[in-house]
Amino acid sequence: MTTMESRTPLLHVQGLTLHYGAAQALFGIDLEVAEGETVAIVGANGAGKSSLLKAIAGIVAPSGGRILLDGRAVTGQPAARMAALGVALSPEGREMFGDLSVQENLVLGAVAGKPGKAEVGRRLEEVFARFPRLRERSAQATATLSGGEQQMVAIGRALMARPRLLLLDEPSLGLAPLVTDEIFDIIHRLGRAGTTILLVEQNAARALSASATAYLLANGRIVHSGKSDELLVHPELRRAFLGAASRGSPGQSRLGAAGFTNVRLEKPDMSKLTFLPSFASHEELAAHQLNGLRWTVRHARQGSPFYRARLDAAGVGADDVRALEDIRKLPFTTAEDLRDDYPFPLRSVPYEQIVRIHSSSGTTGKRKILGYTQKDLDDWANMFARCYEMAGVTPLDRVQIAVGYGLWTAGVGFQAGCERIGALAVPTGPGNLDLQCEFLLDLQSTVYCCTASMGLLLAEEVHKRGLAEKINLKKVIYGSERSSRSMRKRISELLGGAELFDIPGLTELYGPGTGIECSDHDCIHYWADYYILEIVDPETLTPLPDGEWGEMVVTTLAKEAAPLIRYRTRDITRVIPGPCTCGSILPRHSRIRGRTDDVFKFRGVNIYPSTIDAILSAIPGLGSEYQIHLTRDAQVRDRMRLVVERGAGVESRRTDELQREIVHTIKRKVIVTADVEVVDYGSLPRSERKTKRVFDDRIQDSIV
Ligand code: ZN
Repeated sequence: MTTMESRTPLLHVQGLTLHYGAAQALFGIDLEVAEGETVAIVGANGAGKSSLLKAIAGIVAPSGGRILLDGRAVTGQPAARMAALGVALSPEGREMFGDLSVQENLVLGAVAGKPGKAEVGRRLEEVFARFPRLRERSAQATATLSGGEQQMVAIGRALMARPRLLLLDEPSLGLAPLVTDEIFDIIHRLGRAGTTILLVEQNAARALSASATAYLLANGRIVHSGKSDELLVHPELRRAFLGAASRGSPGQSRLGAAGFTNVRLEKPDMSKLTFLPSFASHEELAAHQLNGLRWTVRHARQGSPFYRARLDAAGVGADDVRALEDIRKLPFTTAEDLRDDYPFPLRSVPYEQIVRIHSSSGTTGKRKILGYTQKDLDDWANMFARCYEMAGVTPLDRVQIAVGYGLWTAGVGFQAGCERIGALAVPTGPGNLDLQCEFLLDLQSTVYCCTASMGLLLAEEVHKRGLAEKINLKKVIYGSERSSRSMRKRISELLGGAELFDIPGLTELYGPGTGIECSDHDCIHYWADYYILEIVDPETLTPLPDGEWGEMVVTTLAKEAAPLIRYRTRDITRVIPGPCTCGSILPRHSRIRGRTDDVFKFRGVNIYPSTIDAILSAIPGLGSEYQIHLTRDAQVRDRMRLVVERGAGVESRRTDELQREIVHTIKRKVIVTADVEVVDYGSLPRSERKTKRVFDDRIQDSIV
């Protein structure tokens, strides 16, 4: 701290020891308080905090060491002398004269300096200006005041001395949280007004957020010191504060071993904490990407027989990647590769390094299973925290997570990111509209995470029950499905004007959270420090320039368990050129427009046309030709209409029977309801090339 280096501190404690009889309470305490600074001493009950403060105030005499005020030794001076030198103590437990009025107690605080009557009046006026409540209560017996008001009297009494150094001992002791808020607000304001404060407090988080510098005291020793905002987010301290006691093994951390547990540490100040990368320029980001790309190629080649074979066949190694453009020399990877390599596709680390798997839904063939190392999970949580940050979610938010937990990547991803930013997670999972509404209402959730369909269902339910005015929903983070602008508008309106954020995701690429719509909307910033996104022509696989629509291809830069090299996602999007109005330098892509392989999502279910094909083929009397039409009705509900030909020579009187059978079988096997139209043989168009079977007209207006 520059003030400490350049100037004599107002208070300087050197090697201070204190004994109560044979028992030693303080062991060589060193501490400084600069003029105008608020310094906190934090620690558990019995750590020696109050003893230290009493020694400084002259109430108890130290057994060794020195106390300097303005560089002059004042060690062992009695309390009255210290008060005359400008050290005022607001003691633990307030120590008020209960029978005396508020004003009488306050006036006592001025006694040490022996000011004149007019001066006492002026100081009283200042205290009343700072604590209007005390003016109202000035004639009241102090014992009749609330705990918070008594604390105000105690601080006010100390201020009556016009202290150069204000010592506050446990100001929040015994106070309700709301009252504590009020007292700390006063401490903040005193600090801002230039009062030098040494604060002793068991509530570590409160003390750390109220101070510039802090000392952590355990068993009579300083175990840690530094800038308060850094201590507040210090991982070891957080672990010690939050984890050690509850894990039942406090010895695991140094502070835990020192008895420094049971101290509540509140959430970090998000205004000082960011999950966004700090690249100053596109060149810096590109250099980071090149390093990541080279690492990935080397790592995949060493760790995965699949990749080694592929890379060898393509004749490229990590040394051939000298510039980002060299990514084009690398072979593509596809979903089929993942299925062939089941159950641990693309595995590039030993099995024992894999700590979790996730799996994607699918209606045909084997599921895709992807493994994660602990670092993969950490990276993913960091990306997800970044998504919340970009959407403006803060530790004060309550995040109702209404997506699936379990094998699916969504729930646990939303959860991990939420915990990382320190918001409150309400893990309801999907469905159960009664429960969703109940929690929105009772917990006043401010953020809702869901699929687009679930968002619409909930919005309609909230509207139906007339809850829009009673809930507190501000943001909806939704993903996994395409959504139209009209659907977004409807969800937002029905939920009383909530702001919507589209979050894309792909199990192969960690899961959701690899990018998010920014507050300027209509584009998705993606985390280019974790993966490279290319847009290629799905037919020729030629890379396309920014701005052109094509298939999204991703290459990871840090993924360990199952790295992706030029993985074809089949999602259709484009890179949006130029900077975003939101100011982020992170690149962006459009919302996903569709799929190149005709897989479509209908009411939350991934459906492959081949599944429909197989069902229809198994029903005798039907021809080979069919079309799937997807539309959205006036209520913004998805509808599926199947147009199917009768087989050659099948009589038209069987139409109704065939129709019923198709509806029934689709419902049973795919669990969706379709409208079915059976038409004459030969009435659907044929093509020599791949016949277009899926006509997705759900979204006309959405894509930017
Ligand atoms: Zn933006």
